[in-house]
Amino acid sequence: MGNTGRRAAATLLCSVLSAAPLRSEPMVCPDSVVSVTSGSSHVAETVCEAAAFAEEMFGQCNVPSLDRPVAIHVVEDLLDGCVALYHCGNDKIEVLTPGKVDERRDPDGAFSFLPSKDYFRSIIVHELSHAAFDSVPCPFSSCAAANEYVAYSMQVMSLSEEEQRTFAARADLDRKVSRDELSKMILYFAPHRFAQRAWTHLQQRDDPCAFIGQITDGTVLLDREHF
Ligand SMILES: [Zn+2]
Repeated sequence: MGNTGRRAAATLLCSVLSAAPLRSEPMVCPDSVVSVTSGSSHVAETVCEAAAFAEEMFGQCNVPSLDRPVAIHVVEDLLDGCVALYHCGNDKIEVLTPGKVDERRDPDGAFSFLPSKDYFRSIIVHELSHAAFDSVPCPFSSCAAANEYVAYSMQVMSLSEEEQRTFAARADLDRKVSRDELSKMILYFAPHRFAQRAWTHLQQRDDPCAFIGQITDGTVLLDREHF
């Protein structure tokens, strides 16, 4: 009895000690402005891999580079319905643990076919592109449509070619998608539909990354002022 009790106490202490530094001290991703706070070093490494991929892709596709530290916190809970959240102006991203993301994932959503790890990584790319978009000038009170267009585009672009094809096939948009279909209304009421339209619309451009560049330099405006 006594022995078992001591062993249990030792195990508990050990798990507290090994978990505590990770929770209080963020891990800085190698050669990156991104840092991660997570209860799991494995998850933190996954976040860093996704961040490195995102930073390289942004450079190749005319998304502004992340020019300031961005802190990613892997958390156990978030506002209802959210799997991740970018706190604009605060350079902070909160994302659920991969397990909690799976629990909350919409089974009919645009990304529901992805394996758990690929989906988690794609969420990191999506949120980091919001952080990058912070430096894009917006002539309206909000540029939510443009911001999400770029975020969803980068999210899908970060997938494997086969996953991109599946994403496009499930969107089932075998026609020309117009800019009018990419409104804030669609974004708010049917975000998954917006994601599918954004990707299909981008694929219909002659040079998708040049189009992303036109959005991020303000030549193309997807938003409008609502009076
Ligand atoms: Zn978003």
